[in-house]
Amino acid sequence: MVAEFPGKPVTRFAPSPTGYLHLGHVAHMLYVWGVAGLVRGGVLLRIEDHDRQRCRPEYEAALLEDMQWLGFRPANTLSPEGSDYRQSDCGSAYEAMLRNLSREHHVYGCRCSRKDLAGDAPPGHDGERAYSGRCRTAGHAATQPHGIRIAWDPSAAPESFHDALLGAQCQRPERQCGDLLLRDRVGNWTYQFAVTADDFRHGVNLVVRGSDLLGSTGRQIRLARMMGRANRPVFVHHPLVRSAGGEKLSKRRRPEAVRVLREAGMAPQAVLGLAARAIGLAATAQEIAAVDAAQLVSRRHPGIFRSL
Ligand SMILES: [Zn+2]
Repeated sequence: MVAEFPGKPVTRFAPSPTGYLHLGHVAHMLYVWGVAGLVRGGVLLRIEDHDRQRCRPEYEAALLEDMQWLGFRPANTLSPEGSDYRQSDCGSAYEAMLRNLSREHHVYGCRCSRKDLAGDAPPGHDGERAYSGRCRTAGHAATQPHGIRIAWDPSAAPESFHDALLGAQCQRPERQCGDLLLRDRVGNWTYQFAVTADDFRHGVNLVVRGSDLLGSTGRQIRLARMMGRANRPVFVHHPLVRSAGGEKLSKRRRPEAVRVLREAGMAPQAVLGLAARAIGLAATAQEIAAVDAAQLVSRRHPGIFRSL
């Protein structure tokens, strides 16, 4: 169903520059470039540095260098002076999108502190609390020093979508998370707002990401529709890299940084092989020398092409 893409398939690799690229990123990149290769699509590089407190420009530079060393080529370039693909440079675009939502009466001001939120509905299956909506009718201005939330339509139908690997999905954002926070009380854009705005602005019509983000998809589809997006992307939520003990590989567990492996003398193909093996795309680390990422993905998921 490749013809479903209006024009060329466009996906994205969207790391946060909060540390060095590690094997988990590399495994994810094999899926992103692999799926893009299957549909002859392009990959945009987007720097998700909306969390200005945790991101560092030196990590962005290191990330670009490591990507190049590994051989992953994005379709766009990033200017250090300012780029539409770096979230910290996109404040005015986000302001404009928020103004549009506000004009349609889709947002409201929220005065709640973290402490206020502690009593809301207990964490659901994805570990988050659903916001009760207590500020919805309070009339707080949707501007600083207040947070800004979307007002979901209580009569909206559940969000049904098809994931190319996981099949039919149905989500109810109003129950999962309640009215979503778009901007916090100190003016930071939230991940959910920035990612939905960017996928819309950049014409991303193929989202390839880890299955830990599956729970965010319904709310992003709904928010994008409220922003005026007519077509939703095609979604592919891939398996996660797990350690030998079966846990998710995260930065807290200090997964190996690409540059540490590189400085230890490993070749790019060997690092790609390690990552492919860790995520189950290859049985041995050597296998990748013979095949490309698209072949690895289609071999591991023989039905994926029919679902794209
Ligand atoms: Zn509130």
